[in-house]
Amino acid sequence: MRNALGSIISIVVFLTVFGGFGVLLYNNAQQAKPIRVIVPTEPPPTISVNSLADIFSVGFGEDSTPLPTIAIPTQRFVAPTLPNTEVANIGQTNSPIELYTLAPISQGQTPTPIPPTPTPFVGGEGETPVALIAPQSRATDVWQPPSLPVPQSNDPLGRDHYILARPVDSNARNYGLFYYPYGADGSATIGAERVHHGVDFSNPVGTPIRAAGSGIVVFASSEEQPTLPGSPAYGQVVIIEHDFGWKGEPIFTLYAHLERPLVQAGDVVEMGQVIALSGNSGRSSGPHLHFEVRYKQNLFGSTYNPALWIVPYVGHGTIAGKLIDTRGNDVEDILVTARNLTDGRVFTTQTYTFDGTVNEINADPEWDENFVIADLPVGRYEVIVSWNNQRISQVVHVFEGLTTFVELQPVQAATPQPVDSSP
Ligand SMILES: [Zn+2]
Repeated sequence: MRNALGSIISIVVFLTVFGGFGVLLYNNAQQAKPIRVIVPTEPPPTISVNSLADIFSVGFGEDSTPLPTIAIPTQRFVAPTLPNTEVANIGQTNSPIELYTLAPISQGQTPTPIPPTPTPFVGGEGETPVALIAPQSRATDVWQPPSLPVPQSNDPLGRDHYILARPVDSNARNYGLFYYPYGADGSATIGAERVHHGVDFSNPVGTPIRAAGSGIVVFASSEEQPTLPGSPAYGQVVIIEHDFGWKGEPIFTLYAHLERPLVQAGDVVEMGQVIALSGNSGRSSGPHLHFEVRYKQNLFGSTYNPALWIVPYVGHGTIAGKLIDTRGNDVEDILVTARNLTDGRVFTTQTYTFDGTVNEINADPEWDENFVIADLPVGRYEVIVSWNNQRISQVVHVFEGLTTFVELQPVQAATPQPVDSSP
């Protein structure tokens, strides 16, 4: 009897255990999903570059500098440089730089400084220095590459702030004069010592001037106020306070030596809107637009290098740098050359001159530079200065729409060597 009962219990246990296991197996089998093999249906990503062709194919947006209305020159664009005498002493050590001749692209179109004739500078608050620029005849074959879209701030550390458009179209000179850049004192090239608070775009009277960004006109010359009060040197002026800023601080742009404004104080303007015609008014020796970027305050002492605020051309970038002595102090008023290591073209500027007044120029809030070479075709460059009997250089790469920073510092003075007294 006990055996029979044991057998029944054994059978029940057996059925329960294996029956339950079977149910589990069955259920699991139901839930299993077939293995799917994912076959890629899209081509693998390709390297995407901001190619000129791509940009041309989609246009530049209605806010950007309009396309040129003239035929594109068949010869390549060559930036003007300092006269040969100004670069002749560079590269005197081991790798002499080819002396650069003026651009062959447009005979007679390259801005030519008239012979320096120093004129007494009548100082005063807000007095602006001006370049001595030869009057230009109407240029019809001048064309610059189109600008990148505004804004550009691709620096991984967020330092770039190319948030302004060029105030002059691509079919006119919309690059700053190389021989009188921002912060230069002018003594070497224009025959007058006036630290430059802006950049000069040399163009014929009547060239359309566009707002570098949207905002409100806070000053425009009028019959009642022909020039900026206290600053007759500017001639006819427009100042815009932009409706955007940088790091919470306002930005102003100033347009001087105008033929006449086309806006009035209080007008709201859009980026790219024609606001004036360029001219030769005020303290100016030739038709040009003097363009300033003022940051934080609308003051003569609050200007910054416009080359770090206006957007680069397609296929171009910028070198910002600092030339310092062995103690880390700024070295002022020294010629700086960037030499393209592929084609040998050279581009020049000068280190800033800080004059120690409340009206002095400023290093960029992000870069703390003391020189900028703008509008450089992408590529590898050697940045060179010849200072204190030393040739100081660094090799850098210029990327499209980006600032490349370079610091130049002489090596510590070498230990004096014993004088060789042998005959
Ligand atoms: Zn100027």
